[in-house]
Amino acid sequence: MQDVKVIIPKSGKCSWRKCIFCGYGKEEYPVNVQVLKAWLDKQLLDFHGDTLSIYCSGSFLDDTQFPKEFREYLVKKCKDKGIKHLQIESRPEFITDEKLDEFKGLDLMVGIGLEVADDNALKLIAKGMTVDDFVKAADKIHEHRFKVKAYVLVNLPVPNARQLFEKTMEFAKKYADKIVVMNLLPHGKTPMLDMWARGDWKPLSRREFEDWIKPFKDWPNVEFEYETFKFIPSIPPERRTYLKGVGPEYVDHPWYNIWQDWFARIYKPPKGKDIALFVPCSYTKPYSRSKTHRLIDKAVKASGKEKRVHKLVITSPGIIPFEFNNYYPFNAYDWDEKLETPDIMKVYIEKNKERIINYLKNHARHYKHFIAYFRLDAESLDALKQACNKLGINLILAYDPETYQRLEESGEKKPLFRDELLSQLTETLRRLD
Ligand code: SF4
Repeated sequence: MQDVKVIIPKSGKCSWRKCIFCGYGKEEYPVNVQVLKAWLDKQLLDFHGDTLSIYCSGSFLDDTQFPKEFREYLVKKCKDKGIKHLQIESRPEFITDEKLDEFKGLDLMVGIGLEVADDNALKLIAKGMTVDDFVKAADKIHEHRFKVKAYVLVNLPVPNARQLFEKTMEFAKKYADKIVVMNLLPHGKTPMLDMWARGDWKPLSRREFEDWIKPFKDWPNVEFEYETFKFIPSIPPERRTYLKGVGPEYVDHPWYNIWQDWFARIYKPPKGKDIALFVPCSYTKPYSRSKTHRLIDKAVKASGKEKRVHKLVITSPGIIPFEFNNYYPFNAYDWDEKLETPDIMKVYIEKNKERIINYLKNHARHYKHFIAYFRLDAESLDALKQACNKLGINLILAYDPETYQRLEESGEKKPLFRDELLSQLTETLRRLD
């Protein structure tokens, strides 16, 4: 078996930088041959394998990103260390006879981002190359008896994306020795995030990705990558405004919507947490610092079921698994109850009912019990009840409504803070099997 080392040198910038799906291509670093050489020496110090793979977010054969002097140093280093197989990446325009000659004596594989074998689609994603450019580059690489790796993207924002993907696979099989099929995920600094927020495009769930790639699963020399980075919706820091307000636009906000889609289709609830405990938000953010949540956590702990409880907050941004309580935008919004109107709350209930249904449709099987701890007249409880009814889920209110009403009649403004209700929450959890 080959022993592979993967290195990611940071040097210069991609010469093109315009592909609409690519965040890496927007990065830029100083170019310094001496620094690169020293970095390479360090990377290979303890490596004794025979395969080196270089990912560079751009083109390893572009002199302005990786000067010839460094490439020559790398080739010599590989030969000295007994590294036989070298994998690099490049755009087609840098693949020339002269550059390929530099790698004589090594088994070279050049990765090219083909993405899709269709000129119109390549234009739509601003790839800056044609199918013919790929073919010519692939032929040249093969003339030098080197190999070609084609990167193919799944779920591009182009018409007939699925048919084009299938056509691209057939094409790549003809021209490439290896195909790497990658799922398109929205990098924060690309237009993909806005396309998702507008509802013009959305990332595939793992199940959807598996469905797309099914016909090609048995092909030799094909790799499939659902996730090339740990993917969560990430709003670029410069676009993170504080979302303070009450109204439909503060329920149906694009940043909330992409997170809700991600929670429903892509997120996986934590293993072992099989008791869904639905709870309100809090004015204090993150929620974990609030009195409400400190009291709820204490009651949960007293039940002895702490490890099994998964708190799910229902609030204007939607249904929020508690472990995300300190992520933007859940730590940066404010909804003033005093400004609520019946019309606004109608929108709130409808939107959240839909979000809870979407979440539970995919994740209900993860949970054994569904418990609610809200004010009795809370719209979030209303939305939750309607969603559970629709899905046939047995939702248990964590306390006895009569106790709640009695507390309210006695003038208690915040019954959820009272020991009578908190101890009923503890007991309800304790009794669960
Ligand atoms: S995909 Fe490649 S060519 Fe396009 S911007 Fe990114 S690094 Fe540059």
